[in-house]
Amino acid sequence: MTAPSTLKRTSTPDLSAGSPLQVAGSYPQSTGGLGEWWQRAACRDRNAELFFHSDHERGPSRAMRTAKAKAVCATCPVMALCRDYALAQPEPYGIWGGLDEQERAQILRQQVS
Ligand code: SF4
Repeated sequence: MTAPSTLKRTSTPDLSAGSPLQVAGSYPQSTGGLGEWWQRAACRDRNAELFFHSDHERGPSRAMRTAKAKAVCATCPVMALCRDYALAQPEPYGIWGGLDEQERAQILRQQVS
């Protein structure tokens, strides 16, 4: 799959946009072209706040939210596509494809070493 290059987040996302997919789609750089897999996402009707941490969220609260988001991803029929997309961007924030920011960064570091 070729990940769309028009949907890159470079700042903390605006969580008021709704679901994670709506947050992604709300970015000015986005011109769509995400492909039909987004239509099958398990998070399609979920609140984006589950998938993106707020500026001051730390500790157990963050760990609990992250675990809940990953649990949604674990049921998602397009998890592999989402993960590939997030790694290709790369997406700097949020839970994508069942991976958090640190996990994606580790994979990307391993890919270049
Ligand atoms: S893997 Fe997770 S973040 Fe990606 S589309 Fe599915 S539920 Fe949403």
